[in-house]
Amino acid sequence: MKTFEELGLSEKVLKTIEGIGYEEPTRIQEEVIPVLLEGKDVIAQAQTGTGKTAAFGMPLIDLLKEEDGLQALILLPTRELAIQVAGEMRKFAKFKRLKEVAIYGGQPIDRQIRTLKMGVNIVVGTPGRILDHLNRRTLNLSKIKYVILDEADEMLDMGFIEDIESILKGVNEDRQTMLFSATMPAQIKAIAKKHMKSPVNISVMPKEVTVSTVKQYYLNVTEGNKLDTFTKILDASDIQSGLVFCRTKKSVDELVESLQALGYSVEGIHGDYNQTHRLNAISKFKDGVIDFLIATDVAARGLDIENISHVFNYHIPENAEAYVHRIGRTGRAGRTGVAITLVQPREFKLLKMIEQYTKSKMVPMAMPKIKDVYESRVNKFKKLITDTISEGKFGEYSVIVEQLAEENDVMEVCAAALKLVFEKEFKVGLNDLKEMKEEAHTNQSYRLFLNVGREHNVTKKDIIKLLTSVKGIAGNDIFDIDTFNGFTFVNVNEEAGRKLINTKLNVKINGKKVNIALAKNK
Ligand code: AMP
Repeated sequence: MKTFEELGLSEKVLKTIEGIGYEEPTRIQEEVIPVLLEGKDVIAQAQTGTGKTAAFGMPLIDLLKEEDGLQALILLPTRELAIQVAGEMRKFAKFKRLKEVAIYGGQPIDRQIRTLKMGVNIVVGTPGRILDHLNRRTLNLSKIKYVILDEADEMLDMGFIEDIESILKGVNEDRQTMLFSATMPAQIKAIAKKHMKSPVNISVMPKEVTVSTVKQYYLNVTEGNKLDTFTKILDASDIQSGLVFCRTKKSVDELVESLQALGYSVEGIHGDYNQTHRLNAISKFKDGVIDFLIATDVAARGLDIENISHVFNYHIPENAEAYVHRIGRTGRAGRTGVAITLVQPREFKLLKMIEQYTKSKMVPMAMPKIKDVYESRVNKFKKLITDTISEGKFGEYSVIVEQLAEENDVMEVCAAALKLVFEKEFKVGLNDLKEMKEEAHTNQSYRLFLNVGREHNVTKKDIIKLLTSVKGIAGNDIFDIDTFNGFTFVNVNEEAGRKLINTKLNVKINGKKVNIALAKNK
């Protein structure tokens, strides 16, 4: 396995990577970066979650010249992706003066025109809106040197292929083109053949691997409710200890800090810590001095700890082999272990790919309820008290109780003492916990992509009718519907989402067979 330094990236980008906290290149980065830096066209088959944005983003930052104006065009299927990828590019360009802009439909075009006029180096946009700018002559692609087609299969599904063809016609032929796609249907291959120059084909499909006796679960989360969900899992099922994996050094540090602040006994290990710190943390974990060890893949490599009951993928790993490596730390020596993976909607395809290559299934796990957290904490607390009672030897404490009891009710003295201890132990009051709403659980939403839209004369009513015709789906499972020309996005609740993407619809609307898929909403 190569290091970032060995891939040929500049000092500036290496410094940025260090700041972001990536420890080593992902598989796709290892393959793609050197080829792009050599100036060759690349076709890469990779899913979201494999680190593909950085695979083209980091070399692109190195290749671009600050003074040369607009040189790079990144095309992708949705507004959310455009915003996200533009944000990543800004992050990667930390030590270079490069400007980027996200250009997508739905935002006032005047604002985009103003930004373009002020001068940018990178345009990240959706094909429809880019074409719109080209037609208005508010965007000039004649000096473009790099074109990236990201999530090409999604753009195909969303009917953007003609737009892409028109856009590419307007770009200087003397350019480098990079195409990223999770799948490679014939039409994508045809585009590549027509518009790319002897591209290098790169695919990082994992080897097939097997998993042991581990019970595997996954839970759908959003970036915003990840920490909350994670702590609820720990509390509701009273999990005593486990190994937790994060993607980056920074995310290990952040999670350690948050969990410590919430009263959990955890420590973190990653490549920036020296060997002594790492060994120390590991032995504390082995001896039960700390309950949870938070680690990056690199830091956990070669770590020899038996008997881990739970492995958590706080971040889903980038490939199936890393997954197997991580979860292989539990369920050893014939014992059953549990692996729980937190997955964001956009990472769902990666989860499916991991399942395919491990030939095993991850079972969806129910979102823990506050009611269960409450019960589990109360039981734990009661046990703490009764254990202490059996130990006896109250000495001076009894004296204080006696003194307080002269002027107070004994029940009140006990309740006050419990309140103090409980709040210190769990960082939350029992009364507050009881009153907490289960709201975090209801706003879980799945964004679905339907291949029919306004041009098929589909109305929102039709979509509701269609979805509720599926057994078990009711109107109030549907949160909102966005109808576009050739497609529609629908947000539904988690359970309905899962049901719908696993349902084969045999319905046609105005002659078009309807497909439902999970949308890539970054
Ligand atoms: P992507 O496949 O581009 O959607 O990336 C998925 C996630 O992986 C993003 O959150 C990235 O920040 C993260 N990531 C990308 N490269 C690396 C790396 N080398 N090490 C750790 N995390 C990474």
